[in-house]
This record gives sequence, C-alpha cells and structure tokens, in this order.
Amino acid sequence: MIKKINHIGVAVKSLGLSSDLFSKLFEQTNPQTEEVLEQKATIAFYPVGESSIELIESTSSDSSISKFIEKRGEGIHHICLEVDDIKAEIVRLKNHQFQFVDDVPTKGGDGYWVAFLHPKSTNGVLIELCEKMK
Ligand code: ZN
Repeated sequence: MIKKINHIGVAVKSLGLSSDLFSKLFEQTNPQTEEVLEQKATIAFYPVGESSIELIESTSSDSSISKFIEKRGEGIHHICLEVDDIKAEIVRLKNHQFQFVDDVPTKGGDGYWVAFLHPKSTNGVLIELCEKMK
C-alpha cells in the first residue's frame, strides 16, 4: 500500500551552494546530510511537514545524477512514495506492466530500502518507492 509522498528529489550540481539557498528558503540550517554509496551521491534532507525535499549531488561522473544533470540540467529528479511493503509493491506494480530500474530494493538514504520505477512506464516521471528499514 502506498502511504504518502516521502520526499521530492532535486538534482543539484553543488550541495554546498544549494544548501545555502534551500536553508534560506526553508529557514532550516544544517540539514541532515549523508553519502549514499549505492547511488553514488550525497544527499541532504529538508523536512517540510510530513514530507521533505531531498537535494542530491553526484559523487561520481558515471552516476545517474551526473547523467541526469548533463542531459536536463539541475531540477526535480524524482518523486518518492513511501510504501509499507516494498517487495509486495514491486510485485503488484510489475503485474500492472510497470518497469523497474532495479527489481530488488537497495539501500537508500535515511534508513530506507528503495526501488525506482523506470520513467518509460510512468509518463517520464522517475518514481522511487521506499520502505523504512525495520
Ligand atoms: Zn529519493
């Protein structure tokens, strides 16, 4: 079951420069920041109500974030939907012909399992599913 929009991911060239900007926007300094090795990225979270904005900076020129910025520039990268059972959701959505970038959940940021739906099957919108690790 899909529970809520957990966060919206924004691809940025420089977390340092963008953190300065978003800290002013949300009146929050020192966002929670972490490196996610599996995604070759460093992320920073700005809580906004029950959701958050996730800034994503690439840590490698061959990461998907680097390729995204090369092709489309900085901006909204994905929408993350929180689910109660990520493996069950992958099966359910595959039964409806949705395609996944990875069929098996990987470690995301902030203690979540994540899996991305391929934008080809979701009108060009990259959708991330996440489930809190237990
Ligand atoms: Zn995300």
